Amino acid sequence: MSGQQPAASVQHKPRLFHSSLTTDHSRSIGILGGGLAGLALAALLGERGHVVTVYERDRAGGKLRRVVVGGLSFDTGPSLFTFPGVWRAFLARLSEAGLGEADPLDLRPLPGGLGVHHTPFGAVPLPVPEGHPLHAAWAAYGAAADVLAPHLGTLLTTPPRLTDPAFRRASAALFRATGGHLTAEGWVRARRLPPALAHAVRTHALNAGLAPSDAPALYALIPALVAGSVARPARGMGQLLDTLLALGAARGVQVHEEARVVRVDAAAARLTLNGGEVRRHDLLVSALDPVRLAALRGQVVPSPVARRTVSGVALYAALPAPAPLPATSVLPPADFGTFRAAMRAGALPPDTLALVHADGPRLAVLLTAPPTALDLGPAHPWVRAQVERVERTLGVPGLLATARDVTALSPRHYAAGGHPGGAIYGAALPAWRGGPLHPQPYRLHPRLWQVGTGVHPGGGIPAILGGALMVDTLLGEVLGRLR
Ligand SMILES: Cc1cc2nc3c(=O)[nH]c(=O)nc-3n(C[C@H](O)[C@H](O)[C@H](O)COP(=O)(O)OP(=O)(O)OC[C@H]3O[C@@H](n4cnc5c(N)ncnc54)[C@H](O)[C@@H]3O)c2cc1C
Repeated sequence: MSGQQPAASVQHKPRLFHSSLTTDHSRSIGILGGGLAGLALAALLGERGHVVTVYERDRAGGKLRRVVVGGLSFDTGPSLFTFPGVWRAFLARLSEAGLGEADPLDLRPLPGGLGVHHTPFGAVPLPVPEGHPLHAAWAAYGAAADVLAPHLGTLLTTPPRLTDPAFRRASAALFRATGGHLTAEGWVRARRLPPALAHAVRTHALNAGLAPSDAPALYALIPALVAGSVARPARGMGQLLDTLLALGAARGVQVHEEARVVRVDAAAARLTLNGGEVRRHDLLVSALDPVRLAALRGQVVPSPVARRTVSGVALYAALPAPAPLPATSVLPPADFGTFRAAMRAGALPPDTLALVHADGPRLAVLLTAPPTALDLGPAHPWVRAQVERVERTLGVPGLLATARDVTALSPRHYAAGGHPGGAIYGAALPAWRGGPLHPQPYRLHPRLWQVGTGVHPGGGIPAILGGALMVDTLLGEVLGRLR
């Protein structure tokens, strides 16, 4: 121990039970990073009887945290909970011991699903309701995903091994659904969808943090797969953070906040905290961005701007009265080619993807931005221009100016604890390496593994929960052999 202040611990609860999954091979495991991925894996490993410690440089939650703006509490980061089946699989794994784990999230369908997409060819609500002129085209588009839907849970939660028959069946379904197309753009073009629907569908390539011509074809199917089941916890997304912390605490997980890891020695499973304190475990799992982890191991991994996923500016505004807007509105860029060129060059695009969430007096405007660690606040000319476009399109000119207070989280904020430049989903992988089929680098060394957004292409909540389940499976197979 150095003269450094000991890391602050936020969870001191004793173990409440002895899990039936506990083996004779209980290990001391250190997890780097207390974002959703680190916390989810911590609960799973705690369930198996391991002694788990999470080290978090800032506050637990990572990109999901609470901020108070104008006296109102906002949950930052993820706003749409998709693929709830992955969450249920996570809970089921935690209750394999037969203790039962009622779903504490109380997921509620989000009114309007994925929201109204304001394309240059007209407004398209997704899902497209019956009676809408695009309903028949939407139904035909959605049918293309039917073959994949029953297998998606497998793809998201099963280690990608061709020796596993379930994984092979799911992979075959993916190939049938994507029809041999490599990219989302290629798939959309081949379907000859009406322009407005095609534009709305293309928008969801951004779930991979990439333009449609760079994102794997799977992402063109995302609206079909999720539009009918978009949800949010009854008490907001922050409930997911509270739940993961509580599930971990009940399994003895210790979470140390303001404990920044500054060095990692994989062979010795040893980490050094800021100030010099050294902690040794049997095994380390990094839930950090892989480039950040490499630096902690003394390695240099290049991350050119053109090979990063997008970043964003999130504006959280406390309005004096409820906004006269639907729950979710989406404004895609007018031209995805121009948008892609700007992102790859690290330039601000003339118009960007904007996602608007209205919840009573709470307004969140999320603007996609290049991953160059810019500090973009509400007064920045580009941000103002994008907000004006949003307000004009939604028919609420001057809405943000009425706010009692506005807080902005910019690419600089996301860069502080994540990938260089604030790339939200980490490095951009080529389309042929994206999606569930690419070999995941979970095991970097027998004593150093990794989970989290940067390990999973398009690493939103389903991918990181699914990744935690996969790593739990794989670690279960090898931990008994670790000496
Ligand atoms: C604006 C925005 C909107 C989004 N919308 C959605 C959505 O609607 N749906 C969805 O599913 N996903 C969404 N996402 C993505 C989702 O929020 C993330 O994928 C997820 O929160 C990432 O979790 P993580 O644990 O992998 O990474 P992070 O949250 O980045 O966690 C990594 C943690 O590591 C910590 N850390 C870094 N360096 C160190 C160190 N040296 N020592 C110790 N700790 C360290 C960081 O402080 C951080 O807490 C959105 C993200 C953003 C930013």
